[in-house]
Amino acid sequence: MPIYEFHCNKCDANFEQLLMGGDKPECPKCASNDVNRLLSACGFVSKGGGGETVSSSAGVSSCAGCSATSCSSCGSS
Ligand SMILES: [Zn+2]
Repeated sequence: MPIYEFHCNKCDANFEQLLMGGDKPECPKCASNDVNRLLSACGFVSKGGGGETVSSSAGVSSCAGCSATSCSSCGSS
């Protein structure tokens, strides 16, 4: 199932959302569409919010959207 993890740029919340084709992710807290998609299959397990906070500079890493600079499950081909 295509459940993706997102980070809201507006209120800094992380959330997961099931994306159907054409759906736009929306923050459940502030209803903003200003969100980044994270790659949740990338090493860390989401425990339902609160624990993991991704730095706002995520995305400059080689592992797009992942806070790790490299991981075996993401982007390696
Ligand atoms: Zn938000």
